[in-house]
Amino acid sequence: MSKNIAVDGPSGAGKSTLSRMIARKFGLIYVDTGAMYRTVGLYVLRHGLDSHDKEGVVSLLPDIHVAMRYDDSGVQRMLLNGEDVSEEIRLPGVSIYASDVSAMPEVRSFLLHMQRKLAEENSVIMDGRDIGTVVLPDAGLKIFLSATPEDRARRRYEELLLKGVETTPEDVLRDINYRDVNDSTRAAAPLRPAEGAVILDTTGNTLEESFETISRLVKAYLDGGDGE
Ligand code: C5P
Repeated sequence: MSKNIAVDGPSGAGKSTLSRMIARKFGLIYVDTGAMYRTVGLYVLRHGLDSHDKEGVVSLLPDIHVAMRYDDSGVQRMLLNGEDVSEEIRLPGVSIYASDVSAMPEVRSFLLHMQRKLAEENSVIMDGRDIGTVVLPDAGLKIFLSATPEDRARRRYEELLLKGVETTPEDVLRDINYRDVNDSTRAAAPLRPAEGAVILDTTGNTLEESFETISRLVKAYLDGGDGE
């Protein structure tokens, strides 16, 4: 049976960087579910729809084929109707679209099957907003990562700078605040810690410190403990 780890938390808490590092260290498959919502968001954006146009978004779903593959270095690539959109989905404009369409229950169930299937077939560390609460409620280890909005905005800004994306710290903080409210107040699968989740506030921590803490939890779980 596969051993699965759920990692949830708000934007910029370090979920993807830490999950990717953990996957590499422990030989797990890393699944970034935010990238799936971003792929749907990109399709909607490209079609010129308003991101709140629920009827329009739902009518596009049958035309969207989302797939994932892993490149030679184990990095997850996203395919939208066969086109590799892994870089484009990271653009700031796509974040807002991803957040808005992800509030629609139809979009969530559209992606749910794919997410569960991946966890059935592999031992995964999967990150998102509702992994411990909805997607994998039976995951053996659930982690909820958080940090102050300012700390998360600073990290996200540095990340985008490194990628050469033009933005400002103010815009990144605005984006984080917008998505925090959106993601935690929506009716469908709102962001909240799952029951039994280990809550880690990474404010002020270095990446290495957070990695050490999570590594210990993961090791205890994989070695047979319950992760508590
Ligand atoms: O994690 P990331 O910031 O790439 O996710 C983009 C958006 O997708 C989030 O703001 C959130 O609204 C949505 N999302 C979600 N459920 C998940 C993963 C992401 O609603 N499991």
